[in-house]
Amino acid sequence: MPAQLIDGRALAAKVREEVAAEVEELGRVGLATVLVGDDPASHVYINLKQRHAREAGIEARDLKLPAETTEAELLATIEELNADDAVDGLLVQLPLPGHLDEARVMEAIDPAKDIDGIHPFNAGSLYLGRPRLVPGTPLGIMRMLAEYDIELEGARAVVLGRSAIVGKPMAHLLLQANATVTICHSRTQDLERHTLDADVLVAAVGQLHLVGADMVKAGATVIDVGMNRTEDGLFGDVDPGAMDVAAYITPVPGGVGPMTIAMVLKNTATAARVRRGLVSRVY
Ligand code: NAP
Repeated sequence: MPAQLIDGRALAAKVREEVAAEVEELGRVGLATVLVGDDPASHVYINLKQRHAREAGIEARDLKLPAETTEAELLATIEELNADDAVDGLLVQLPLPGHLDEARVMEAIDPAKDIDGIHPFNAGSLYLGRPRLVPGTPLGIMRMLAEYDIELEGARAVVLGRSAIVGKPMAHLLLQANATVTICHSRTQDLERHTLDADVLVAAVGQLHLVGADMVKAGATVIDVGMNRTEDGLFGDVDPGAMDVAAYITPVPGGVGPMTIAMVLKNTATAARVRRGLVSRVY
């Protein structure tokens, strides 16, 4: 029997409805996005985030700065937005042009407004098992797993990729949910030895169809984060043949991607709640 598809589009629409209800209850929620330069993919992401934010009733400010913006200018913009009480959530779209130090820029964002969850305070809180604002992609994946009743307690989870925005926070969230977690990366030897053991397999590498059907355990849940653009369209890290082996699988497109944006909006509402003192902690 082919795997059941995990419908990220439908679930993302549900999350956006939840956000809209939260925004109505809160009265006013503000978001500011900052995009530096002309990266076409970044423009697409920012425009989508802006559109979905507005549809959810969030007051969304859209700052687009020229590619030649200096680090001092960008840091001054962030400082202004940090100090602006009307801004609950602030995100700076990555990647930044090469002359800007991404780590320094991320560290400049007020952790209470860091809806991408990448400030060291938020990353460290997750590492310590006390998550606050968490990156949208792994947070969206946890929501998908919950929605489809995928058992994590005691499960073997394998994460391919160890980036700060996907792989590492994903592994920590799975650990937090009492899975036994293995992280694989570019130096991992004998990748299939690990993947074949996975009850839950998350592929976040960025290599077209790296995970073949013969690398997937029968009955596993497979989450495909990969976004590989080819002339024929957008494809994931997992070969479509895995459909015949897995029990649940996310499609590309229509799986993790829409959830990521929805969870960034959810984080904005959460940040607003915490900033107003309505909840003392995020989780
Ligand atoms: P990244 O920063 O480039 O990280 C890729 C990771 O994959 C690295 O940790 C790398 O290992 C590892 N890797 C490379 N080759 C490998 C191999 N053969 N076997 C096992 N691991 C290998 O990428 P990212 O930002 O995490 O994104 C990963 C993918 O997800 C990309 O396709 C990206 O476009 C996509 N993505 C999608 C969404 C979404 O919303 N759907 C969001 C974010 C990212 P090393 O650390 O050793 O180099």
